Amino acid sequence: MKPTMAILGSTGSIGRQTFDVCRFLGIRVAALTAHSSAEMLAAQAVECGAEYAAAYDAEAAAKLKELLEGTGIEAGPPGDEGLILAACREGVQRVMVAVSGSVGLAPTLAAIDAGKEIALANKETLVCGGSIVMRRVREKGTLLIPVDSEHSAIHECLYRRPGDMKKLILTASGGPFRGWTRQQTASVTPEMAVRHPNWSMGAKISVDSATMMNKGLELIEAMHLFSAPAEDIEIVVHPESIVHSAVEFRDGSILAQLGPADMRVPIQYAVTYPERCASQAEPISLAAVGKLTFEAPDMENTPCLALAVSCAKRGGTAPAVMSAANEAAVAAFLRGRIGYNEIYDRVAAAVDGCGFTADPTLGELLAADEAGRRFVRERID
Ligand code: NDP
Ligand code: MG
Repeated sequence: MKPTMAILGSTGSIGRQTFDVCRFLGIRVAALTAHSSAEMLAAQAVECGAEYAAAYDAEAAAKLKELLEGTGIEAGPPGDEGLILAACREGVQRVMVAVSGSVGLAPTLAAIDAGKEIALANKETLVCGGSIVMRRVREKGTLLIPVDSEHSAIHECLYRRPGDMKKLILTASGGPFRGWTRQQTASVTPEMAVRHPNWSMGAKISVDSATMMNKGLELIEAMHLFSAPAEDIEIVVHPESIVHSAVEFRDGSILAQLGPADMRVPIQYAVTYPERCASQAEPISLAAVGKLTFEAPDMENTPCLALAVSCAKRGGTAPAVMSAANEAAVAAFLRGRIGYNEIYDRVAAAVDGCGFTADPTLGELLAADEAGRRFVRERID
């Protein structure tokens, strides 16, 4: 099957790779969005013959309109509306949600309601509103395929065996500071934090991988995607990033998915599912890899992971506050406003200081997200 696609966040790391995969496979892309990269967005829209493009930022949206004049491509409005119009566009079958941050929640829900299939890279959407997103997916009977490599791996391992699962095994590379103490990480700079040993990714997720918050967000993502309690998900550090994750079944058998550390593979899986096509990824040779190693995570020196596990177990609004506070703290770290170790301090303070609702509505989740973000921003700016 070759679905007509919309790509939200087409100018980012996942978005550009999705664009590339669609070009490689001859898949039509009808709608694209970005935040402020108007020029790249316009160039992509022209190249793929899109019908619609939208930039979230108001200034970029005005610029995009100029750039698209005379091309016949519609320039959408700024803000959530521009993303929602892309996600719900007639003729689009599958929507790749590759924006960064919980801004992905509103267009994801709108796309599900419009009967679109979802390829979901944006983990913050599930961390903030996973209970509501997954309920709507079930109600609508629509397809939601994860793009995050770990969840893509689990999705593959669970194929036709969902009821037999005993435990999910979520692998983590450990990031660039594996084995470092808190004392050592105190002097980490943004340049050091965005250099991941195995994966090339956007700045925010690279920092999350370094602090291991990423694995905490992924734990929460997995709980929602696969209806698993936190207690049934084990995090294992696997520095080679060859085993992308695994599932242990009732009889003790473990199925794992292995492959190159190349996001184009899980992106393509989510774009073409249930079909599998040849890809551009360089295949790996297990003999050349030689050894695969595994170890338990060091919770003491990665307090962001410990915090995320505790928020995951607490549920309610805790993950939404934590994830939004983390977005704000990581942005401040990347701007040089706070130190690396302070990311944890700021997020933990927000989780403590923002109140808690056990069974939140969508409105309460959005308010919790806003509160977490504001708590961190107000104390920095
Ligand atoms: P990037 O920062 O590289 O790209 C983000 C994209 O979203 C860009 O197109 C950006 O536009 C757009 N965007 C950012 N903020 C907003 C906003 N407020 N409103 C609208 N659009 C916005 O991120 P990644 O591609 O690395 O990550 C995207 C998502 O995928 C994240 O949730 C991440 O956790 C997840 N993910 C990423 C992986 C990776 O390998 N990169 C792996 C697994 C998951 P602009 O260019 O204009 O700023
Ligand atoms: Mg991942």
